[in-house]
Amino acid sequence: MDSHYLFGVLVVSLLAATILFRSKVKKRIKASEVASGLVTSAALATPADGSSEGADVIIVGAGVAGSALAYTLAKDGRNVHVIERDLTEPDRIVGELLHPAGYLKLVELGLQDCVEDIDAQRVLGYAFFRDGKATKLPYPLQMFPSDVAGRSFHNGRFIQQMREKVSSLPNARLEQGTVTTLLEENGTVKGVIYKTKTNGEELLKKAYAPLTIVCDGCFSNLRRTLCYPEIDVQSYFVGMVLENCKLPFPNHGHVIFADSSLILFYPISSTEVRCMVDVPGQNIPSIVNGEMANYLKTVIAPQLPPELHEPFVRAIKKGNIRSHLNRSMPAAPHPTPGALLLGDALNIRHPLTGAGMTVALSDIVILRNLLRPLHDLHDASSICKYLESFYTLRMPVAFTINMIAGAMHKVFSGSPDKVRKEMRRVILGYLNLGGVFSAGPISLLSGLSSQPLIGLVVHLFAGTIYAVFSLIAPFPSPNRIWILARVIFDACSIIFPTMKAELGKFPYQHWLLLITEPPAM
Ligand SMILES: Cc1cc2nc3c(=O)[nH]c(=O)nc-3n(C[C@H](O)[C@H](O)[C@H](O)COP(=O)(O)OP(=O)(O)OC[C@H]3O[C@@H](n4cnc5c(N)ncnc54)[C@H](O)[C@@H]3O)c2cc1C
Repeated sequence: MDSHYLFGVLVVSLLAATILFRSKVKKRIKASEVASGLVTSAALATPADGSSEGADVIIVGAGVAGSALAYTLAKDGRNVHVIERDLTEPDRIVGELLHPAGYLKLVELGLQDCVEDIDAQRVLGYAFFRDGKATKLPYPLQMFPSDVAGRSFHNGRFIQQMREKVSSLPNARLEQGTVTTLLEENGTVKGVIYKTKTNGEELLKKAYAPLTIVCDGCFSNLRRTLCYPEIDVQSYFVGMVLENCKLPFPNHGHVIFADSSLILFYPISSTEVRCMVDVPGQNIPSIVNGEMANYLKTVIAPQLPPELHEPFVRAIKKGNIRSHLNRSMPAAPHPTPGALLLGDALNIRHPLTGAGMTVALSDIVILRNLLRPLHDLHDASSICKYLESFYTLRMPVAFTINMIAGAMHKVFSGSPDKVRKEMRRVILGYLNLGGVFSAGPISLLSGLSSQPLIGLVVHLFAGTIYAVFSLIAPFPSPNRIWILARVIFDACSIIFPTMKAELGKFPYQHWLLLITEPPAM
């Protein structure tokens, strides 16, 4: 544990020192320009190796990340070959709420029409419920055009819209097939082997391209050689759809801080509301034998706001209860010439804050900007070196969102411990202060903040000061001081290990670079 604290103190001091340093640095060079200087001469000098199908890029998986990336790169003039295991409309309980920051990334990528005509709902913020009290926390959207808001929808409809856009481009080829292996030669990935069916007959095929981008999602089979995966299984989301249910705060995501777990509600169409119940641990009551229905009815339903109780019980009776494992995995890439990981294959955070798609889309904008100046992708080693800056550039947004998602899940996932309860009370009290104290954290967890790292540090310090006042003012007693000390100790034991997991795999130079040169977003 000591090493966690030392690590934490080091990180916070480093961040604070460099923030001061930053304010004096006037000259900022866009990281993409610096990086492009690194590569152009080497990359362009190398002749093409004549890949078999003329693709510049192979993309494995056409989910959220793969489809958006394929459209983006093809629109930039690359020949893109996308191989997706199943091209029919996905029916999943993941990726249904896109934050406004994610919508802004869709606009940047020219994909905003993918949330039109799918009965997507506008999302304007959150409503938190605790002990019968509700707090509304709107996204700070005042500075943006009126179309900018979160969107919630059926994940499959959104993905099909993006796949259609990919198919509309003549230089993009979308093929159904399951990639089984990355083709490697002397440490460089040259393409993939995949299984596909033609006239009912299963075929094994090879495809070659100078760059293969693996976007095969959170259960990726291909990430093994491209990163050091450290997967933490945190909980299950148990999902149901509530029909004809009026949410207490229309167009808002609802978070109920119940005693035993967290419960989310958000609209996914004009007539349907998604409910997700976070069930901690690795074993959950069985859905098949009815234990889960009983758990939802007896433990969860009584803790819901009255407006949601009846539709919730109706949904349990109707059945169709589904579950999904919630995992987290910090990005720990093993830079490999010719290949790159993206989306959940690269980095996963707890889905409590619903930010996975926002991170993936933000990463795609960064990657697209890095690749744009490169006309030829054949010098795999130089490009691999060049693309290392991708991990630095993505860190402010990804690190902040991941940190908050991980910490929030640990704090709010219903531990009966007295100190944890005090911590929850302090955090909700801080958010209840309103103004910057609620807008700041909401913009951080949803990816809207333009200075996420600075915002994170500022709110951690401000939150600590608030904790001191709310726990011991106006008359500090030894007991209150003892509780304060334990709350701070407990907070550190959540924050620093999460920070260490997220940053630990990166050299210190990356941290400095990311603070002195903010990404061009
Ligand atoms: C329960 C849950 C709820 C979530 N809710 C939200 C939310 O509300 N908002 C949000 O922003 N994020 C949410 N997320 C996270 C979000 O779903 C992911 O971050 C996002 O889907 C990642 O996109 P991806 O393209 O990496 O993976 P996916 O969207 O899963 O796409 C992977 C694709 O790869 C294909 N594939 C897999 N293996 C192969 C192979 N070998 N060959 C070819 N194709 C292959 C798959 O068929 C799939 O189409 C949630 C996650 C979970 C677990």
